[in-house]
Amino acid sequence: MKYEFAARMGKVPRSFIREILKVTEDPEIISFAGGLPNPESFPYHDIKEVAVQVLEESGAQALQYSTTEGYYPLREWVSNRYQSKGVKVDPEEVLVTNGSQQGLDLVGKIFLNQEDPVLVERPTYLAALQSFGLYEPVFYSVPLEEDGVDVNRLEEALHEFDPKLFYAVPNFQNPTGISYSLKRRKEVARVLTGSNTVFVEDNPYGEIRFMGEDYPPVKAFLEESVLLGSFSKIVSPGIRLGWITAPAEVMDKLVTAKQASDLHSSLLSQMIVHRYLSEYPVEAHLEKIRSMYKSQRDLMVSLIQEEFPDDVQCTEPEGGMFLWVTLPEGMSSLELFEMALKEQVAFVPGQAFYAEEPQYNTLRMNFSNSSAEKIETGIKRLARSIRELEK
Ligand code: PMP
Repeated sequence: MKYEFAARMGKVPRSFIREILKVTEDPEIISFAGGLPNPESFPYHDIKEVAVQVLEESGAQALQYSTTEGYYPLREWVSNRYQSKGVKVDPEEVLVTNGSQQGLDLVGKIFLNQEDPVLVERPTYLAALQSFGLYEPVFYSVPLEEDGVDVNRLEEALHEFDPKLFYAVPNFQNPTGISYSLKRRKEVARVLTGSNTVFVEDNPYGEIRFMGEDYPPVKAFLEESVLLGSFSKIVSPGIRLGWITAPAEVMDKLVTAKQASDLHSSLLSQMIVHRYLSEYPVEAHLEKIRSMYKSQRDLMVSLIQEEFPDDVQCTEPEGGMFLWVTLPEGMSSLELFEMALKEQVAFVPGQAFYAEEPQYNTLRMNFSNSSAEKIETGIKRLARSIRELEK
């Protein structure tokens, strides 16, 4: 039989990262390619205890169908967490999703028609390009600078393209690790205020700030925006829970779209996560993750500075799980990838993260999922490959 797939499927490449991860599954390879949290941070024991309690005390409820919007106490937890950071979000404005990735899909579903203009950062989160890409928009991008998006270019792009959405990751961005300063956050809110472009703020890493000053999300200055969050980096990615907050009018459409997709997210998982977050020492758990990632990040940054040639640059993230390396002009990270694989070390070539006109001399490195020993060996091997490529 000849399957005739929808045209849109031809427009979205399979995730380049997934293809690369296949190559790097070999346990002999030191991989900085994936985007995995450190499994040592998973609260196995606590989750096991909580799961038993939930099943024993509320098993019939937990295993039944439930509401699309999500488990109310979990929505309240999200709302209270925002209140503590100075952002007013009512529990009714929170929709629980299967990871923030589903939130991105739902946003695409309710807003995008074919050929609609969508603005993203340059570079941007690859799986957002995939998610929105299925709705066949036209992507435009605005450069990222050290402390956030280039606001002048953003303003120009808003006038020139009149985009439906502007998608950004203001905290410890995937892939660059870059974070917006407070000034940039306010400027972004200022230029978007009064426009018809919906700001889609993706914030899965906000709680993982291990240095520097914490700032509120842009939504604190731009109420009409859509803000996504995730339990993946604070509890576990395998539980597949996240959320999306939006004004009532948008929430109504999101709920309809989620209903059509999957009726609701797993109530059992929501009850487990809620009980864990409300009854266990979550602040201590978050501190543990932050200090773990900080030492991994410090080690990787200092080794890169010592071992890589001087004309190679890297970002110095204040949180999250990634840093971004820029090779000298004209060097190709894809060629470096081939050479590094021979040395049994892997990363993600940066070209995958561009919506348009990729920059070929960039690469993404994950620091959260490698031991100190692997970081040390891996960076030294990578330095050798870079010098070899420079010859
Ligand atoms: N957005 C960004 C920027 C991410 O890096 C990720 C995780 N790779 C996600 C969304 C999706 O996370 P999840 O679905 O696990 O919440």
